[in-house]
Amino acid sequence: MPNMSPRKVAMPEQAPDVRNRNFREVALGYTPEMAVEEAQRCLGCKHKPCVAGCPVNVKIPEFITLVAAGEFEKAYEKIRETNALPAVCGRVCPQETQCEEKCVRGIKGEPVAIGRLERFVADWYMEHVTKEILKSPRNGHKVAIIGSGPAGLTCAGDLAKLGYDVTIFEAFHMAGGVLVYGIPEFRLPKALVKREIDSVKAEGVEIMTNMVIGKVLTIDEIMAEGYEAVFVGSGAGLPAFMKIPGENLNGVYSANEFLTRINLMKAYKFPDCDTPVKIGRTVAVVGGGNVAMDAARSAKRLGAEKVYIIYRRSEAELPARAEEYHHAKEEDIVMKLLTNPTRILGDEKGWVTGIECVEMELGEPDASGRRRPVVKLHSEHVIPVETVIMSIGTSPNPLIRTTTPGLDVQKWGGIIVNEDTGETSKHAVYAGGDAVTGAATVILAMGAGKTAAAAIHKQIQEKNGL
Ligand code: FAD
Ligand code: SF4
Repeated sequence: MPNMSPRKVAMPEQAPDVRNRNFREVALGYTPEMAVEEAQRCLGCKHKPCVAGCPVNVKIPEFITLVAAGEFEKAYEKIRETNALPAVCGRVCPQETQCEEKCVRGIKGEPVAIGRLERFVADWYMEHVTKEILKSPRNGHKVAIIGSGPAGLTCAGDLAKLGYDVTIFEAFHMAGGVLVYGIPEFRLPKALVKREIDSVKAEGVEIMTNMVIGKVLTIDEIMAEGYEAVFVGSGAGLPAFMKIPGENLNGVYSANEFLTRINLMKAYKFPDCDTPVKIGRTVAVVGGGNVAMDAARSAKRLGAEKVYIIYRRSEAELPARAEEYHHAKEEDIVMKLLTNPTRILGDEKGWVTGIECVEMELGEPDASGRRRPVVKLHSEHVIPVETVIMSIGTSPNPLIRTTTPGLDVQKWGGIIVNEDTGETSKHAVYAGGDAVTGAATVILAMGAGKTAAAAIHKQIQEKNGL
């Protein structure tokens, strides 16, 4: 008999006024008893609508049935058949718009907590099981991957399972992409990311760090070294600015730089690390996505007394995950919605002193279908702040496209691919993730890595008459 409670089993969390002063994980995870109780809410639907909502087709009812039976190790193995990064996805995927949105239990109550169960299973496995991962027999064919974010790692892992010799070339000194340099420790502990990357390596993937493709080697040079295909998963790490006066003042950061200093360079441990990050007592973060929430919550944890999120539309249009927005509000982040900056103000020494804004109203829908914000007359006002963090979007770095002849890209820099295969305009070069879509999500990047791995396998088999 399923558990017919309309509500998810709650997940314990650090209290808001405690957690907004530390970088430890906010959500504390289910106990085995909680996980079994929640798993018993699943109806094991024959038509599996939840699976259709997952870009990597995790076998959701199958793994949840195993959790309900207390078979946690087998549940992990079931997830791992299609998802190389379950501890990551269980924490950061927007389940509310994917698998959980499709869950039939959501019709008359809350959906099954698929993400929390995935997280539980991955954490339980890491804590309790030390099994050697068996490498598939090698097939003698080489594939190169550019970038070690979720797109690259997934493509690499799938190809290694099929026997390919896969090398990832990563620009940074550490693998993981945004999982290590963007998403903060309090949402995604880096030790877990490392464990999941180690599992991908154990499948036979080699990761070469400090390899900036386009500088150290080009894609053509990689192909000349005997790689039969290349997958570009180089992300969208180039920050956008508003082009308003004052953006070059001291105390203005891009969210990318701010978060990279904190996460990758561990600035929050300063002086026990080399990279400090200077933060004022009052901070404005401009933008309304996950990145903005992460920057605001990090600023609070670094000691800022007042942190504002400044966003030009209303709560209904806010692109951040509902959970991140809710957590940010609980942590005392002040939401200045329907507000748009027009100028950053500074003192005679060039340091930020405030941000001038106007109030906005929502007009007719624009091309994105969202109501266009329009300026409210005579609404100019100044918010005194000492730090401004710009978080209004990113685009792909031009390095790959400017060093790869024959690679077609969109005007804004995204690589153009065949959606069914991930193949680019250049023969045997594939791409996926943020490098193609612009800033999106971990699971969409993983889905793109998977699609490309299948297409690369097919192409190499056909080429070699296998
Ligand atoms: P990335 O993760 O960006 O990885 C690209 C990798 O390629 C990087 O390691 C980069 O160093 C490397 N690279 C770039 N150029 C080169 C080169 N020339 N040579 C070699 N290597 C190169 N998504 C969610 O689903 N949920 C969230 O909660 C969430 N929160 C986020 C919070 C922040 C702060 C940010 C920035 C993003 C967040 N996202 C979230 C988005 C998500 O992280 C990305 O969509 C995802 O990481 C994209 O994966 P990717 O593999 O395409 O690229
Ligand atoms: Fe279980 Fe919900 Fe999927 Fe049905 S839709 S199998 S209840 S998780």
